[in-house]
Amino acid sequence: MFFEKKYCPTCKKYDRKFRKLEGREWTVVEQRHRGRTDLWRCTSAGCRFYQPAHNQRDGARLPEEFRNPAAEPAE
Ligand SMILES: [Zn+2]
Repeated sequence: MFFEKKYCPTCKKYDRKFRKLEGREWTVVEQRHRGRTDLWRCTSAGCRFYQPAHNQRDGARLPEEFRNPAAEPAE
């Protein structure tokens, strides 16, 4: 499940693809987002931005270790 063509304030681009957080990502969100089930993150290389669905202004960044890899993994 994805949001496509979304604006990302970290990338400063309007064509970003977002996906719902997965696995351990849910455990490292900021305190105010704990317990939510509607958090989405930007999938672009080098980005860590996430936000609650429909509330971009409440977005934040995941810890450094959850930064997207610089290059897309081979499939
Ligand atoms: Zn981004």
